[in-house]
Amino acid sequence: MTEAKKVENVIIVGGGPAGYTAALYTARANLEPLVFEGFQWGGQLQNTTDVENYPGYPEGIMGPEMMTQFRAQAERFGTRFVTDDVDRVELSNGGLQKVFLGDEEHVAKAVILATGAEPRRLGVPGEMDLGGCGVSTCGVCDGAFFKDKKVIVIGGGDSAMEDAIFIAKYASDLTIVNRRDEFRASKIMFERVQERDNISFKTPYVAEEFVANDQGRLDRVRLRNVETEESEDFATDGAFIAIGHIPRSEVVAGQVDTDEEGYILAQAGSTKTNLAGVFAVGDVVDRTYRQAVTAAGTGCMGALDAEWYLRDTPPSPEAHWMPGGEPVEVAPAPGP
Ligand code: NAP
Repeated sequence: MTEAKKVENVIIVGGGPAGYTAALYTARANLEPLVFEGFQWGGQLQNTTDVENYPGYPEGIMGPEMMTQFRAQAERFGTRFVTDDVDRVELSNGGLQKVFLGDEEHVAKAVILATGAEPRRLGVPGEMDLGGCGVSTCGVCDGAFFKDKKVIVIGGGDSAMEDAIFIAKYASDLTIVNRRDEFRASKIMFERVQERDNISFKTPYVAEEFVANDQGRLDRVRLRNVETEESEDFATDGAFIAIGHIPRSEVVAGQVDTDEEGYILAQAGSTKTNLAGVFAVGDVVDRTYRQAVTAAGTGCMGALDAEWYLRDTPPSPEAHWMPGGEPVEVAPAPGP
């Protein structure tokens, strides 16, 4: 007989607030979670400075420090971490869930997907090269660096409006550049923007290129009027791109139900997906709130849903047999 393969109770894919909170709860439930936290663990908070809106930190906390604390708290109760990016996932409906690092296979009775989201990019020259040198995707993170400067915010949704309101507290002069004359943003957010003296609009324009000065910092943005097709150089110290987010669901694409943009669909009021034993939490599910505290909240929900699933409807015994018919060792069932 070949060597028995360990079947985990639960594997968590993702190392942001949602994944670490799911780890904390499943660890405290004695499920000994295994977390694939990604090579760049910490999620989007790893690229954030002060976090001032997470309850319990009256003085604020730096994003990376907060993620280190989340991780340490989950570790304290026995969470194991793999600091690498998952290559492949094989989901099943009520059977064993498989996660692969290269050819290395990890098997679990339940999986919690907490892979997060990333800012949508324009895909134009200079955008990536000037990241951190005048081009940003996080107004809340970087707005304060543009005190008395001239900046633009690209986008017409609520995120762009929210960024603009925040950054305009610092910038002397802020221009919102939108590709249409109409704005997708909610009326209330748009009205708040209109109330600000130092915010103006430039439509219908798209950014074609971000151009650096001799010091390698952003100097100007080449904007194209989508009606006249004429381009112009627009001088600016900073450019904030706020055109939405992309859910990081590519590793499970085609296996679990998602919406047309790739957000994993969870049942209302729960983290259950269309597959028994597969739970989804955090920004990969959430197109609306996308806050650390909401991600952590759904991470907790996912852990409880997984715990109850393992208690009430564990994978069928046949599922504990690996392909080829060899028996596998099954981790002890969780206690009540
Ligand atoms: P969004 O609503 O999808 O808006 C994205 C904006 O970016 C749209 O104006 C879109 O233009 C534009 N855009 C997309 N791709 C572009 C491209 N390649 N070039 C130029 N422009 C492009 O995304 P969001 O603003 O991040 O909001 C997401 C969700 O979170 C929404 O439900 C929103 O209400 C919610 N939210 C709420 C708040 C709040 O209430 N405080 C704050 C932030 C977000 P088109 O309109 O032409 O497609």
